[in-house]
Amino acid sequence: MIKKRVIVVGGGLAGLIAACQLAKNGHLVQLFEKKQYPFHRVCGEYVSNEVLDFLKRENLFPETAHFPSISKFEFSDTKGNTVSMDLDLGGFGISRFLLDDFLANQAILLGVELLQNKPVENINFNSGVFEVITQDQGTYEAEFVIAAHGKRSKLDKVLNRPFIEKRSPYIGVKYHIRTDASKETVALHNFKAGYCGLNAIEEEKFNLCYLGSRDELRKYGSIPEMEAQTLFKNPRLKEIFNSSDFLFEKPEVINEINFEFKRPVENHVLMAGDAAGLITPLCGNGMAMAIHSGKLAAEAIHRFDSREEVEKNYQRNWNMNFSRRLRVGRVVQRLFGSESASSFARFLLSDFPAIGKVIMKNTHGTPI
Ligand SMILES: Cc1cc2nc3c(=O)[nH]c(=O)nc-3n(C[C@H](O)[C@H](O)[C@H](O)COP(=O)(O)OP(=O)(O)OC[C@H]3O[C@@H](n4cnc5c(N)ncnc54)[C@H](O)[C@@H]3O)c2cc1C
Repeated sequence: MIKKRVIVVGGGLAGLIAACQLAKNGHLVQLFEKKQYPFHRVCGEYVSNEVLDFLKRENLFPETAHFPSISKFEFSDTKGNTVSMDLDLGGFGISRFLLDDFLANQAILLGVELLQNKPVENINFNSGVFEVITQDQGTYEAEFVIAAHGKRSKLDKVLNRPFIEKRSPYIGVKYHIRTDASKETVALHNFKAGYCGLNAIEEEKFNLCYLGSRDELRKYGSIPEMEAQTLFKNPRLKEIFNSSDFLFEKPEVINEINFEFKRPVENHVLMAGDAAGLITPLCGNGMAMAIHSGKLAAEAIHRFDSREEVEKNYQRNWNMNFSRRLRVGRVVQRLFGSESASSFARFLLSDFPAIGKVIMKNTHGTPI
């Protein structure tokens, strides 16, 4: 086997999994992460079971705590009318604070050189070699680069990726709370211009995370006021917000959440996770896709020697596994976040549950 020098940019799930898989197979891996672990991220923290066996098989699943197993789905429309159904595959709840930190430690144990607080500013490709430049003007060389820097980064601008020019109307807000809710249920509660997920994670905590609208935030001036004026119109959300203990001093907030089309390979860089394409959060499997795509990128680099073959293999596998899911996710997103669309979605789920199952099947993969 030829040992390859690989740089991974971004230590979320896609980057960490790719780095671990490559290091396990004997390659020389440097991973650049702009932050310092552990840290919170805006994410619903419901992981689809399609990656559970893989994580356990590869010793990449933390056995340190109990992670609630989730097998039911509850949906409420903007008026708070609910419908429930069983999930075919289901999932589990785990905080990114814990999961990403655990994986970062596993990566170090497997031999990955983990460089934290090291934002990458540019990636150049010349005469078969990559040159990766960090914000502190460090220059690092590698034969392959996996860019797993998430949904949006300054790097996308430098790399001239077309999606970066489009503004996004969405914001994401996340809390950890203690509340009296079913631990085996992932709930999706609609409100005007958005939807809010609720599911259990470790240590008796729940994740409360919503996709909202930048315009609504601007209109109401602050997160609490926007929540009072829009989210609380759904009585289920009002009840959850008013009866729970909020564990963060302030929520985690991000903006510019963009679901536009991206390419999985750009200028010879393999894009993984959200950097290759972000599925709408309501599908609840962005994390599973990030893990799966990190695995595919690592496998392509490990299995093939020529750059052309690596890129061709990754691109083909990526398209086969994710293109359709992203397309369906974009369509399904239209059924959420407005009064008429969400009550139509509730009607479909309650009177034609088979349609709900078909949507889930088309936005999820099979266990890896
Ligand atoms: C509101 C919301 C709710 C969601 N809920 C769920 C859910 O319940 N279940 C689910 O499966 N998915 C969910 N998702 C999607 C999920 O969060 C993402 O798909 C997943 O985090 C993607 O992982 P990633 O590794 O690609 O990117 P990330 O986890 O975003 O990691 C990217 C990493 O790259 C680093 N980075 C960025 N730029 C640079 C740089 N220039 N140099 C070095 N490092 C850099 C960042 O600091 C970060 O650590 C949700 C998304 C949103 C927005």
